[in-house]
Amino acid sequence: MYRVTIDTDACDGIFACLTRDDRFAEGEDGLATIEADGETVRREDGRVVAEFDDDRRADAEQAAEACPPGAISVETVGELGGGPDE
Ligand code: SF4
Repeated sequence: MYRVTIDTDACDGIFACLTRDDRFAEGEDGLATIEADGETVRREDGRVVAEFDDDRRADAEQAAEACPPGAISVETVGELGGGPDE
């Protein structure tokens, strides 16, 4: 399980992320958001947070690397007691 976070305050609307991972999309505000049917996507103040349990983490990491302002982060979330506590 991993969590993808977009810091929408840092996002510049460059959309390099979309070409790396099609779960990223242009939101109504012209900034990146995450669209994933059936997955948990939360909008928080200044952030979009989604959690996935699939084999596409590498795609998300490529999007994070491609993002010029570094607005995307990908991290492991705790599962089966083996993840880091937050
Ligand atoms: S690449 Fe980064 S700055 Fe560009 S739209 Fe995606 S999240 Fe925003």
